Amino acid sequence: MIKKLLFLFLFVLASCSKGERKSPNVFFAGEIVNPTNNYVVLHQGDVVIDSAKLDDNNRFIFRLDSIEDGLYHFNHAPELQYVYLEKGDSLMLRLNTVDFDESLIYTGSGEEINNFLIDLFLANEEEMFDVLSTYYPMEPGDFSKRMDSLRNLKLNNLKELTSEVDLSQNAQEIGEAAINYTYFNYKERYPYEHRGRTSELAMHELPDNFYDYRKYVSYDNKRLNYLRPYYDFMKSHVENLTFMGCSHDCAGKDEIVKNQLHYNKHKLKLIDSVVIEKELKDNLFRNVALYYLLKGHDKEENNAQFIEEFKKLSHNNRHSEEIDNLYKGILNIQPNKEIPDVFVIDNQGNSVSIKEIAGKKNMVFYFWSADDKKHFNSITQRALEVSEKKPEYSFVGINIMTDESTWKEMVKNKGLDESKQFRAKDFRKLHEALIIYPMNKCIIAKDAKIVDAFSDMYASFQ
Ligand SMILES: [Zn+2]
Repeated sequence: MIKKLLFLFLFVLASCSKGERKSPNVFFAGEIVNPTNNYVVLHQGDVVIDSAKLDDNNRFIFRLDSIEDGLYHFNHAPELQYVYLEKGDSLMLRLNTVDFDESLIYTGSGEEINNFLIDLFLANEEEMFDVLSTYYPMEPGDFSKRMDSLRNLKLNNLKELTSEVDLSQNAQEIGEAAINYTYFNYKERYPYEHRGRTSELAMHELPDNFYDYRKYVSYDNKRLNYLRPYYDFMKSHVENLTFMGCSHDCAGKDEIVKNQLHYNKHKLKLIDSVVIEKELKDNLFRNVALYYLLKGHDKEENNAQFIEEFKKLSHNNRHSEEIDNLYKGILNIQPNKEIPDVFVIDNQGNSVSIKEIAGKKNMVFYFWSADDKKHFNSITQRALEVSEKKPEYSFVGINIMTDESTWKEMVKNKGLDESKQFRAKDFRKLHEALIIYPMNKCIIAKDAKIVDAFSDMYASFQ
């Protein structure tokens, strides 16, 4: 009782000193035209805050009490977009999934910063084409000038907005960061993009002041962690620093950069030494690990060395379970190992083990999802073609992330052999066991043993 009173007292005190009495509650609602899903899910970073079901009029409402001011994302699968929320906000959105980002409009308190962020996002998407085709081939001095003038133009727009409406310090900071890091990112990528687009053999010499903006870079600002331009910048920045560091300081020069294990361990060390904010650091470490493990296809002993370094540098990483499972998953599907005993559902609704399906002869497992119809059409077509060319193989399709009726309908309409189509029972488990990445990958097995778990439906069977 006393504790409660004390808390109440402190709370009243705190809200008095603030000057204005804002309700801590946030009301965030909207209407989705042509919904692609029944839900809207609100995220803060990688954490789900709340979800709301669309009503009969395709409207949703979030009533949130006491949330932190800052950047959130709302997800209406498969799309997602920013929403910036502050205590007391009463914000509405309207969008049409046919033109998701382009149609998105915010109204209500908080509309200014939210519409600004969306407009910025759309402008950046458009501008990207000019940067790639016109600006990257320019000499570094001209390129820098161009980036600065584009950046200043947008900063002036923000300044204008700030003079017209009352934007909080926080909201201004997000707006500014969204502008600045977009151009900082282009500059980090310049040496590589320039070389690629001009076919120059060596890296272009850069003027001394080329990276001057780096003194404004923050490595310790939690509020920016999930701002796309900031995170994209961080990835490019780490890549650039690692590449330059590796090619200048590490033994063997050029060769060493191509050594996946060395390069990625070097990158982990660099992240550890440069980045301060823990969650950002965790996310960047995860990014390196995913990239190395999924795309590197390195030797078993190299993977082990990498994981050892990862664990040494990244204590209590919020993604360590995911990385560990991925590592173990990859280890489990090396050649000659038994295919994992994970379950899928057949057309009659029975649960069947992958091991049982793979027990027969030369089996090839490929994957598809209703989310990507183009991929579905081409991969099933490819399976048909190859099975005619290579009758010794039996091709089995595994569907992921599709509801039962949609799956059955797609299999039927396409005229696929129902006895060779299965659906994931638990996608996460299946993915952890079979590492379903990239979507064109296939697993070749013989007598329930792995032949190649990282084969490709198009590159293989030539
Ligand atoms: Zn190195």
